[in-house]
Amino acid sequence: MKMPDTYLKAAQELGFTAAAPVNGSAVVCRPEIRAQCTPKKCKNYAANWICPPGCGDLEQCEKIVSEYEKALLLQETHALPEETDLKHAAALAREHNQRAEKLIKIIRRKYPKAFLLTTGGCNLCETCTYPGEPCRYPQKQRGSLSAFGIDVSELCSKGGLAFSFEKGKVTFVSCILI
Ligand code: SF4
Repeated sequence: MKMPDTYLKAAQELGFTAAAPVNGSAVVCRPEIRAQCTPKKCKNYAANWICPPGCGDLEQCEKIVSEYEKALLLQETHALPEETDLKHAAALAREHNQRAEKLIKIIRRKYPKAFLLTTGGCNLCETCTYPGEPCRYPQKQRGSLSAFGIDVSELCSKGGLAFSFEKGKVTFVSCILI
């Protein structure tokens, strides 16, 4: 399956800095990345259904990834002035995820099973139902790149996209499995 050019164009129009197709086999679930998901290292641990332990073990994540033939990487970079607070960075991350959600809606017209992997846990609801009740919106739910054990830097490199941590800049990455 060739990635339709219309999706790359739509990504550009939505405001992503870069978009690149890769084969599904380029999306690798690595235990050492998943091992970073711990209550000490991440506030999203055990806080919603898309982060561990609610999202299932790495084998379950691998099984999901193996069902897709292609992936579309989405990236955007913003300059962060020195005085930027965490709230501003979180708002930019939210906007990135909203853009990705708009794009996956377009893609699902043709590929209804397309699945979004992004960053920052799930913030679709004011308060997540985890762990007491099932997810309110399983169809809208997205996955977490880190919970899936995906090395974002490695994945960007496979798609020919630059990725680095630079002072004064922030880069967000999402991946739509198609
Ligand atoms: S959609 Fe709502 S209930 Fe489901 S994981 Fe996200 S925040 Fe939780």
